[in-house]
Amino acid sequence: MVDGRVLLDGGAPLLPHMHRLGVDPGDIEVVFLTHFHGDHTLGLPPFVLHRVFVDRRPITFVGPSGVEDYLEKLWEVSWGPDWKRVMRPQFKARYVTARPSGTVAGVRYETVRLDHGTMGGTGYRIHVNGKVVAYSGDTEPTAPLDKLVDHADVAIVEATGPGDVFSHMSWEAAAKLKRRHPGTRFFFNHVYSGTVSGAVKDLQVIEV
Ligand SMILES: [Zn+2]
Ligand SMILES: [Zn+2]
Repeated sequence: MVDGRVLLDGGAPLLPHMHRLGVDPGDIEVVFLTHFHGDHTLGLPPFVLHRVFVDRRPITFVGPSGVEDYLEKLWEVSWGPDWKRVMRPQFKARYVTARPSGTVAGVRYETVRLDHGTMGGTGYRIHVNGKVVAYSGDTEPTAPLDKLVDHADVAIVEATGPGDVFSHMSWEAAAKLKRRHPGTRFFFNHVYSGTVSGAVKDLQVIEV
């Protein structure tokens, strides 16, 4: 989450984490999704429940092509026929397909297509208060990732595990990436087991 109003992906368990941090889930104005894998989206249904029944402020979901179809299906899987009948009419969401650059809900962004699995991923450079936050979601450590983090103030990137990690970035590749971009503050997430230098802690809050 950035600046209390921008959410980057929605892995589980999003809603209890927000409550524990003292963040109001109703304050989120825009959600940027990198890709549709479950560990990046399945925290969203309980969050949406909050935005349907507790706080009905408008919200925008930005994601790769097909974002509306994927998310509407996810809401329907979550609540069956009650979604369209009861909940959807109360849900003030709009869906936006991510472009190479744009502004949504007052937030300027650029995207970089990243190498990840069959679908690929969409990395974001988010401009907030004159700073740039780069966020990869999941990616192999290929050239587009260097483009994504280039001259960013903060880079939140995955570092999945040691050695050979299929379609992801290894700890070794993450350390090399950090050395290639000495002016950027790196935070590593998506660590499957064990830990690596620079890994974020659960519920870590940073000031930039
Ligand atoms: Zn993934
Ligand atoms: Zn993932």
